[in-house]
Amino acid sequence: MITLVAATHNENKLAELSEMLGKKYKLVPVSEFDGGEEPEENGGTFEANALIKARAAYAASGLPSFGDDSGLCVDALGGAPGVYSSRYAENAAARNAKLLSALREIPDKDRTACFVCCIAYCDGKREFTVRGECKGRILGKETGSNGFGYDPVFYSSDLGKPFGEASPEEKDAVSHRGRAVALFAAMLDDIYGENDK
Ligand code: IMP
Repeated sequence: MITLVAATHNENKLAELSEMLGKKYKLVPVSEFDGGEEPEENGGTFEANALIKARAAYAASGLPSFGDDSGLCVDALGGAPGVYSSRYAENAAARNAKLLSALREIPDKDRTACFVCCIAYCDGKREFTVRGECKGRILGKETGSNGFGYDPVFYSSDLGKPFGEASPEEKDAVSHRGRAVALFAAMLDDIYGENDK
């Protein structure tokens, strides 16, 4: 089994990632090494922020580490909220309201948007990042009650329905996070070999 340090303090995220990566990898939260201290996410891109987290986890643990960063990019807003997705307003309801208001005058065809998830890996010798994307558009109003964050205002082109009306299984199959983890797993298998599962 290969131990990887996950630069997240969120237990749900850790469990979900562990499930997706499979039994070959044992994920240990960075809190076991850094005492809960989080690095400042001041990168200008998702890749830069994911690398900041992965490097900090490696610095604290000395073990192969990874970090992730995700958010929503809206074309009509020049890619905003982007890396500021979690800081766009004070809570999820306020963030969705602010987004819908910013796009009030924008017609359907110009409301294209993309969820992005980047994962960065760092082990002292190698560093790499992978990016998963999920395309769609921003709805005119909140629709459905499934998911979290910006899900209620996002219409997925892959699914042909709002994320707010998608089951967790449907969302996982097309999500930016699912796609990034699949790419990450393939990169890890390149490094650690596929036979040792
Ligand atoms: P973080 O990567 O956990 O920091 O997430 C950044 C921000 O993007 C948060 O505000 C999330 O709500 C939002 N976000 C990331 N992924 C998703 C998603 O799958 N659905 C809805 N919102 C998301």
